Amino acid sequence: MEIVSAKIIEDRLTAVQEKINQACDRAGRDPSEIILVAVTKTWPTALNIAAYEAGIRHFGENRVEELARKRAEVTAVLGEDSGIVWHQIGTLQSRKTGLAVDHADLFHALDRMKVAQRLSRGLVGNGRSLPSFLEVNLSGEGSKSGFDTHNWEENATQRTQLRKVVEEISQLPGIQLHGLMTMAPWGVAPEIIRNVFRRTRELGVWLQNELPNATVDQLSMGMTDDFEIGIEEGATHIRVGRALFGSRK
Ligand SMILES: *Cc1c(COP(=O)(O)O)cnc(C)c1O
Repeated sequence: MEIVSAKIIEDRLTAVQEKINQACDRAGRDPSEIILVAVTKTWPTALNIAAYEAGIRHFGENRVEELARKRAEVTAVLGEDSGIVWHQIGTLQSRKTGLAVDHADLFHALDRMKVAQRLSRGLVGNGRSLPSFLEVNLSGEGSKSGFDTHNWEENATQRTQLRKVVEEISQLPGIQLHGLMTMAPWGVAPEIIRNVFRRTRELGVWLQNELPNATVDQLSMGMTDDFEIGIEEGATHIRVGRALFGSRK
């Protein structure tokens, strides 16, 4: 795969930032509230270096082995004080939590209690803390991971289960709950995507009301094709790959 130059990434970053600003304008939000996570999955580490030169500091990886490897490779080039923040954006298998404990700075896809418990144990062991988002599945697509909340407004069982999960995870040492993450369904109309994002925000508000001592006020939602909708519906973190780096093939 051919890597784009730092100059091209810089131009694309400017274009993405412009869209972020416009979406913030429409929603009456401040662009400084939005963290743009640049998704570098599948690309070689040279891309991260070019992106760094273009000014990017937040990197997202889907597979934790890849995150751990690239983090080491990038650190070898740029040093420990590069200011880079590494986001694990894909779900973790419970046997791989150790890699996230050691190498991830944020985790966007916490989708099972078992993973939460293992992470917590590991984090206590190495004295780190891991800001995390619970992944919720509001589209009801079986192919999507995340806690099943596809009908949370009508279904008291789904609500009660999620509240219990949030309550338990909030009490696990090491895991620092930030909020909710969701993925929009594929290939659907923008109104349907918007609806999923809006319902995710409302779910966060509901949880926050139910559990005032928990922190669930941040939202990771929006990718290349839908980050503007994500921002309009309250995203604090967007995860963007192709708009910055081109198609992964
Ligand atoms: C790949 C990926 C993204 C970025 O997708 P793009 O369409 O390239 O912007 C965002 N979030 C997750 C969880 C991903 O796996």
